[in-house]
Amino acid sequence: MATDYEHQKQWQAATQLVRGATERSQFSETSEAIFMNSGYVYATAEEAEDSFNGNLNRFVYSRFRNPTVAMFEKRLALIEGAEECRGVGSGMAAVFAALACQLSAGDRLVASRALFGSCQYICAELMPRFGVKTELVDGRDINAWKKALSTPAKAVFLESPSNPGLEVIDLPEVCKLAHAAGATVVVDNVFATPLLQKPLKMGADVVVYSATKHIDGQGRCLGGAILGTTQFVTDVLTPFLRHTGPALSPFNAWLLLKGLETLELRMERHCANGQKVANFLAEQKTLSKVLYPSLKSHPQHQLAMSQMSAGGNIIAFEVAGGKAATFKFLNKLKIIDISNNLGDTKSLICHPSTTTHQRLSPEDKAVVGITDGFIRLSVGLESADDLIADLKQALNG
Ligand SMILES: *Cc1c(COP(=O)(O)O)cnc(C)c1O
Repeated sequence: MATDYEHQKQWQAATQLVRGATERSQFSETSEAIFMNSGYVYATAEEAEDSFNGNLNRFVYSRFRNPTVAMFEKRLALIEGAEECRGVGSGMAAVFAALACQLSAGDRLVASRALFGSCQYICAELMPRFGVKTELVDGRDINAWKKALSTPAKAVFLESPSNPGLEVIDLPEVCKLAHAAGATVVVDNVFATPLLQKPLKMGADVVVYSATKHIDGQGRCLGGAILGTTQFVTDVLTPFLRHTGPALSPFNAWLLLKGLETLELRMERHCANGQKVANFLAEQKTLSKVLYPSLKSHPQHQLAMSQMSAGGNIIAFEVAGGKAATFKFLNKLKIIDISNNLGDTKSLICHPSTTTHQRLSPEDKAVVGITDGFIRLSVGLESADDLIADLKQALNG
């Protein structure tokens, strides 16, 4: 007997992640089916007409909805505690859609300046080309938010913790200020995942994910998601998605469903390993800076821990000796791979200044702390002892 979706909202996270929103076909399969189809057929012309004029609620075209994609969307909405979710082809498609669906020429967008490179491009370069006035603020400084939001704004966009500098933003306070200014708050919750931080409970209106990261978490596919109220998703977001087409492939949605099934287990190990590796790095005298939300030395440790239930798996640190010494360290690693992805079962390390944030000007890099020695480490699911040994030999070599 299928349990109805309303009842599944009472389940614990582990049960929601494994079973939430499963819809079985007439074949009673155990694992969710992949509906790898673009279109659907109608028994009659009348049925087609009713499907398009909204009298009939059914699948009509996979650019709009698809059964496998819908299972992923409904399962993620359960775990996030959101009314609605839409899956899209990548994290950047999610960020762009969440902003472009609601912004028009003349509107103001206020965003934190510590952003993933492509998020920075959308807010600071692309939106202004369409007449949106973007203002970037130091997300850690509540007075900067107060000042920027003393003028009406249409949307606020932020990452907390930020990629890659792990800056933390006071979500309840910023949401209050944003709402007073008339803005919709969009939070990119990639680093915290739906398990460690619940932005909607702290006042945010919309949450976006790169599902490529921890939700797949196994380096297999790209994906993205946008979550919010039924009103926002149906009235504002859905027309934009239907007509611009950043659709999520049903196959990728299926991989992401399988990813959700193990997300809680993986996050437990990610966080435990993250803490052990961060503790080790914090003891290294040769590192000028180690940033990890649940280390007491993180400048916003208390705020981070009031918003997140654990530190996550991303650590940032600074190697002394500039780019040459940093590249030497990276090239000596034997287990940890040099890669710009994150949230993977495999530990991955990257040098943001020359990769993910390469396009930022030297000044923009400096204000968000991306120096020549700055490193972002995504701690995977290997043995923490092996990872620490690998880092030790590379740092001391
Ligand atoms: C990776 C990432 C994105 C982009 O996601 P893709 O799936 O690569 O398009 C957006 N925001 C943050 C914080 C990210 O880490």
